[in-house]
Amino acid sequence: MNDFKTCTNCNEKLPSTKEFFHAQKKGLHGFRSVCIDCNRVIAKKYRSTDEYKEKARVSHAKWREDNRDKHLEISRRSWANNGIKYNAIRKDKYNTDEDFKQKKKNAEKRYKESGARYLANSKPEQMEKARIRSKKRRLIDEKKDHDYARNAKWREKYREQLNLNSAIKRNELHKSYVAQCMRLKTEDLNENIYQTKKLIIQLKREFKNI
Ligand SMILES: [Zn+2]
Repeated sequence: MNDFKTCTNCNEKLPSTKEFFHAQKKGLHGFRSVCIDCNRVIAKKYRSTDEYKEKARVSHAKWREDNRDKHLEISRRSWANNGIKYNAIRKDKYNTDEDFKQKKKNAEKRYKESGARYLANSKPEQMEKARIRSKKRRLIDEKKDHDYARNAKWREKYREQLNLNSAIKRNELHKSYVAQCMRLKTEDLNENIYQTKKLIIQLKREFKNI
């Protein structure tokens, strides 16, 4: 099987194997006349022509129409996997591409005016979804109230311990406490001022105790 074959595009003599040529039943040795590398370049060039783009647009649209469920499934899956990435790209395009922005705005306007959203939301299954959503929200609110009451009870029970804890915290003169004394945010308090103020507070306390 030491057959060679000359690519009709680059005139390179290459082994007749599937590493160098795509298969074609009627071709010499069962391969195409153009080598894989040339084929790639030619195909890429062809895909960038308007003629191809238009053809592809039509045929893709037809495929989506004929395979509606499959298409929905594919796009659903791809949004689940890459939605965040897609949204970031769209957002970027929206902010930089004026044409795209206008297109989106027009589409939004058309959608609003068509009343499609109202129609979609008044379908029984959508109403059911909305009912479940609001029930969930209500449950979350109830849980919040419940948690708050439970925490209040807990605070009441351990009031002494909690007061002691905060007293200890105050005595340690943490940065956050010193900042609070100076009506500053913790991150705005610089190290020198913190150390100085800490000393002042400690001294004041010492004098109080004498
Ligand atoms: Zn070639």
